[in-house]
Amino acid sequence: MATPKGGNFGKVLEIDLSKQTYKTRPVSDEILQQYIGGRGLGAYYALTEYKAGKNPFDEDAFVFIGPGPLSGTMAVSHRTCFVNISPLTGRLNHAECGAHLASEIKFAGWDGIYIKGKAKKPVWLAIVNDKVEFKDASKMWGKTTDEAHEMMVKEMKDPEIRTAVIGPAGENGALQANVIVERFRAASRSNTGPVFGDKKLKGFAVRGTKYAVPVADNAKFLAAAKTAKELNIQGEAWEGLKRWGTGGLMELKHFLHGSLITKNFQTTWWPDVVNIGGEEAARTFWKRHSSCTNCPAHCLKLGIIREGKYRGLVAESPEYESGGLLGSNLGMKKFDEMTALIEACDAYGLDNISTGGTLAFLTEAMEKGAIKPADLDGLKPKWGDGDTYMEMIRRIAYKEGKAGKFMAQGVARMSKQIGKGSDAYACVVKGRELAAHDPRGDKIRAYSYTMGTNGADHHEGQGSRALAMTAMADSLCSCSFTSMLLWGASTDKIVTDMLNGLCGWNMKPEDYWTTAKRIFTAERILNVREGISSKDDRLPKRFFTEKLPAGPRKDAVFTEEDQKKMEADTYGFFGWDAKGIPTEATLKAYGMDAFIGELNAAKKKFNL
Ligand code: SF4
Repeated sequence: MATPKGGNFGKVLEIDLSKQTYKTRPVSDEILQQYIGGRGLGAYYALTEYKAGKNPFDEDAFVFIGPGPLSGTMAVSHRTCFVNISPLTGRLNHAECGAHLASEIKFAGWDGIYIKGKAKKPVWLAIVNDKVEFKDASKMWGKTTDEAHEMMVKEMKDPEIRTAVIGPAGENGALQANVIVERFRAASRSNTGPVFGDKKLKGFAVRGTKYAVPVADNAKFLAAAKTAKELNIQGEAWEGLKRWGTGGLMELKHFLHGSLITKNFQTTWWPDVVNIGGEEAARTFWKRHSSCTNCPAHCLKLGIIREGKYRGLVAESPEYESGGLLGSNLGMKKFDEMTALIEACDAYGLDNISTGGTLAFLTEAMEKGAIKPADLDGLKPKWGDGDTYMEMIRRIAYKEGKAGKFMAQGVARMSKQIGKGSDAYACVVKGRELAAHDPRGDKIRAYSYTMGTNGADHHEGQGSRALAMTAMADSLCSCSFTSMLLWGASTDKIVTDMLNGLCGWNMKPEDYWTTAKRIFTAERILNVREGISSKDDRLPKRFFTEKLPAGPRKDAVFTEEDQKKMEADTYGFFGWDAKGIPTEATLKAYGMDAFIGELNAAKKKFNL
């Protein structure tokens, strides 16, 4: 087992909440080269430690929080990855979020944090370099994410700590619950909130003052990192991202792409976007830019509501997915009301996407008569009614009453219970609510929604190559906006040049692809073990059967032909068979022979 020469320390911090102990878990350079870090390393741990059907609430179920080898270095932009079995989908999922947490974990001397076990009473963790303190969280339990963040800062007397906390939604086990990182960023698509809640873990704070990321060949690494950053700065997309963040996409997706989701994906035409999108935010709300570590794109936009009933509310808004799911998809016309919904989800610790999807689905179900107000304890959601949506969000977070418990399950389970043909407008893939891009207007997005590991995630890659590149970016913990999307066809060389200088590896550009495919295939093996195959790699019914009624992509529909092409392209690219199962030859080519037996057993069990 070789020790890393650079990029990594060769050690992960393993925390056992049951015993309230911690130790170093060594990780070899060979494993890091095969699975890189972040998302890839989380998949490796699940693949080698879990059997099929792992329950996220088992005592030994882990949450892995990963930086990557580039985190904490001069390379551009760093994000953090959370990996765990999602209680919403029942499968291993991953979530990436911005801010500075990844670098801080590296400065504390760790290649990742692996948390298992269950505390008897609420705890939070203060991680300072090599030391972990298990702190009493009884006074923090029940607090919102912003309050918990402030309490950690106060108790550690250090404004530079990096926090990751859950809100009441995670504590109460709402399946849409997430983890909020450093007050304004969200790790959502792994549904880590209810897992932390079950472990009685309010969250953790990290401070690193002792370690610098080791570099194998400084001159080589700095030259490669500089080339990468210069390529970014030359990109035109860079300027748009700096000016508008992702909020500016709302108008673009509406007027140009025809993919702005509206009223539970019934249309993509919502002219009121001019009142809730980036232009309105620039006119009345934004106050300052903010960014993740070492990212000059600063796509995060903070603002303050200046008048009306939400006057004084400080929020990060509208990030595109939040604005889509809690804005146009709910028929919202008022910027302040939409922003208040976004901020409420963040404060309670709820995924904006799944929560917005839940509210939109119920509004349509009410409209169609599939449910009545009595089914929701008297609530009657209707498009654009911000007050009712705010109350629904609160009840989800606290699982209050019959309605709160019902809504906190997410769309797939609700639709099953409602029946009455509601599956026709239940917009989920593999148990997860769709993000903010209508795949009839944005067909390439269907790859991300259907072929991606998480299901219905907007961020898994548009196209077969992009699926692999995103798996790699999430394992490096680089932001795709400032890496693969700007580096394009040079990405394999840029990444391997940086890794070779940093880690002392000898990767060729083609090794980038083998590694990326190995990571994505590792997740596919985990999915196949749970019975997933081509039958699940599909968009919801609505997108095949209902044409877009208006907008720039009027009459567009996703066809069976589109589906067939996407399957053939993806499965062919990764070396999977026609049912989406990795072949034996592929597993051998990626050095994953050890999993052939398990895959064959799953094929037999699920008749795949
Ligand atoms: S582009 Fe935005 S999300 Fe990406 S690293 Fe920069 S600030 Fe963070």
